[in-house]
Amino acid sequence: MSETINCPSCAAELDKKINSTKHLICEYCFSSIFLEDGGVTNLGKMAELIDEPSILKLGLDFEYRDWNFVPIGRVRYDYGRGWWDEWFVMDTTGETKWVSVDEGHIAIEEKDTNPENASLYFDSISVGESTNLIIDDESLSFTVTEKKHCKCIAAEGELPFQIIPDEEFDYVDLLSKNGKSATVEMFNDGTKDIFLGTWVDPFDIKACY
Ligand SMILES: [Zn+2]
Repeated sequence: MSETINCPSCAAELDKKINSTKHLICEYCFSSIFLEDGGVTNLGKMAELIDEPSILKLGLDFEYRDWNFVPIGRVRYDYGRGWWDEWFVMDTTGETKWVSVDEGHIAIEEKDTNPENASLYFDSISVGESTNLIIDDESLSFTVTEKKHCKCIAAEGELPFQIIPDEEFDYVDLLSKNGKSATVEMFNDGTKDIFLGTWVDPFDIKACY
């Protein structure tokens, strides 16, 4: 169900595809627009994304095996030696997922809500160590492949939470033996978000436009 929001800065009509969207970035003037309780707040300008060639593009149709999706938002994170993009995508049923693209490495993940996973402590875990996570009702062993600090540097499109430019946090990437992926983002206030999914072969993602 699509809705139109007028940019509070340039008055452009912006298409909002998801009811629960919290943040819109105007594609014309890059105003960062926070949406809450029916109100529209202009948070100033968002840094423009330097458009490097990318496997995904905002607003176009893509397919991974039988799953069809459209990228509707993107957040870029800098980890010091480079950056990666988290694409917020919507499928034909209106469900959303995240497609993480770090050069040729692609994972499709969903935000996890399992309280058992949420009760785990990741602050002291190191690269090479293992922990069990529940994914698709199965307890699987995951090994930490990366533990780093990153910074949000830019965003575009439509996103389910407020993007705070320059916000920094620690994250842990984990991998299971059968290619399941997990990402844990750990924020300064002690909260964390867990995303679970799977690594995919970039050649299995096809443009349908
Ligand atoms: Zn605008």
